Order: sequence, then structure tokens, then C-alpha cells
Amino acid sequence: MATIFSKIIAGEIPSYKVAEDDKFYAFLDINPLVKGHTLVVPKREVDYIYDLTDEELAAMHVFAKHVALAIQKAFPCRKVGEAVIGLEVPHAHIHLIPMQKESDMLFSNPKLKLDDAEFKAIAEAINKAWEGK
Ligand code: 5GP
Repeated sequence: MATIFSKIIAGEIPSYKVAEDDKFYAFLDINPLVKGHTLVVPKREVDYIYDLTDEELAAMHVFAKHVALAIQKAFPCRKVGEAVIGLEVPHAHIHLIPMQKESDMLFSNPKLKLDDAEFKAIAEAINKAWEGK
């Protein structure tokens, strides 16, 4: 059975897409810790990120890097943090989280409630700043 992220990639479930190439897809986390919180996923369905091949993992990080640079351009921050958890959705993904302070990375923080227009505007701003890769 396809994961929820595979359904998102296939367009069967809507998402706020920020970037895509032939192997990877990036979209806004629906329960963001901060504005710009983005998920990067491989199109090949793999549960555990370390089950990706070395080449896939390296390429995923290069793709994530360029998404992170776009996030930082669209939402100025001290740095974009990276986190891998994956206990909720069994489809490998990297969280990219714009940080002003270390505690912005705490997954136990309350999540932001954003409306559709806000999600759309954030995704559009990151996508505009994204220069590919
Ligand atoms: P993890 O598996 O890394 O513990 O958490 C999965 C993340 O995916 C969570 O931050 C959650 O908010 C996000 N998420 C779960 N389902 C969906 C969904 O259907 N759409 C989007 N955009 N994000 C989701």
C-alpha cells in the first residue's frame, strides 16, 4: 500500500509543493513548527532513510540543500536546521526548519495553525527562491 507521502507525490492528496525533480519532492509540513517548515522526500518509497542507497542519500541531501537555501532566502533565519525522525510516516523524509534559535527545532513545541492562504503564500515564496537541483 502506498504511503501518504507517495499519494502526495502522485497528486492524489493535495500538498503545498515547494520543489520537485525526477527523484525528490519537497512540500510544507502540515503541522509546522515555524513558517517554512518543509519536508523533503524521495519518490522511491523507503521507510527508513538509511535504507536508501549511498547515492540516493547523497542526492537527497544535495536536493535538500538547495531547498534549504531557498527557504532561507524566502524566510531569513540564522540557519536552516535538518532533522530526521520518521516515526510517524513510514516514508523517509528530511525536515527542514528555519531557525532563529535552537528551540525552534523542538518537536515537542506547539505547532503553528496556518490557513490555506498562508500555506500557499509560504510555498510560493520558497518555490520562487528555489533555483533547482
Ligand atoms: P515524523 O514521521 O518525521 O515523525 O513526522 C511526520 C511529519 O509529517 C509530521 O511533522 C507531520 O506533521 C507531517 N505530516 C503527516 N501527514 C502529513 C500530510 O498528510 N501532509 C503534510 N503536508 N504533512 C504531513
